[in-house]
Amino acid sequence: MFHIHQPRIFKRFANVRAAQTLRGRTHLPYGFNMSLTVGDDEVRVRAHRARLAERLGFAPERLATQRQVHGVRVCDVGAGYVPEESDAIVTAEPGWLLAVSVADCIPVLLYDAERHVVAGIHSGWRGTAGNITGITVEHMRTHYGSQPRSLYAYVGAGAGECCYEVGREVAEQFAAEHSRRIGGEKYLFDNPGAVLAQLLACGVAADRIEMDPRCTICGTAFHSYRRDGARSGRMFGVIGMPASLA
Ligand SMILES: [Zn+2]
Repeated sequence: MFHIHQPRIFKRFANVRAAQTLRGRTHLPYGFNMSLTVGDDEVRVRAHRARLAERLGFAPERLATQRQVHGVRVCDVGAGYVPEESDAIVTAEPGWLLAVSVADCIPVLLYDAERHVVAGIHSGWRGTAGNITGITVEHMRTHYGSQPRSLYAYVGAGAGECCYEVGREVAEQFAAEHSRRIGGEKYLFDNPGAVLAQLLACGVAADRIEMDPRCTICGTAFHSYRRDGARSGRMFGVIGMPASLA
């Protein structure tokens, strides 16, 4: 079994591959885990990563990961790339498969159809609060000449408004329409809605944005840190332009 979901929005582009991996159904709780730092068997995780890359048309050694820290730093991927502390990576070089590691945080994948640039963004509530999506779009504009109107976006599955409980101190960092009070100091936070608002505010066209409506906490097809805690695997959101198609 091969556990990935491929967004529809990029399928019109023959030179782009994108996916979000799923939890899988065997070897639970880790399943089709992509993380080397959650206690899973390293050999199996590396095999999962290699299978993912090869299935999408990339060499496993060109899978670009990052050391995510819930910040807003953007790194460029190219020859000699070594993962640094960042939460968004960008490349214009075919052959690289950019990876964002998630379990409830949202993987935001971007493609500039004019300049042929891709980006992978990790947007949990902290990243969203810091507008990492807007910062990445601006980085693409200043470093690659990308115009927001040329961008296509996939907002992958993450914790949804149905389940993503946060405290008032978190809810207050966002516009009121992105959270709903459920009593006391508790709120349900709509992280996908907040990311969508950021993409629209950047100038990305609404009909070029695909939202995955599924919630990772109540959706059993996904890994969820909120639901499963320390023994939860991680999924990758990935995007790239295979070198063979360049
Ligand atoms: Zn839910």
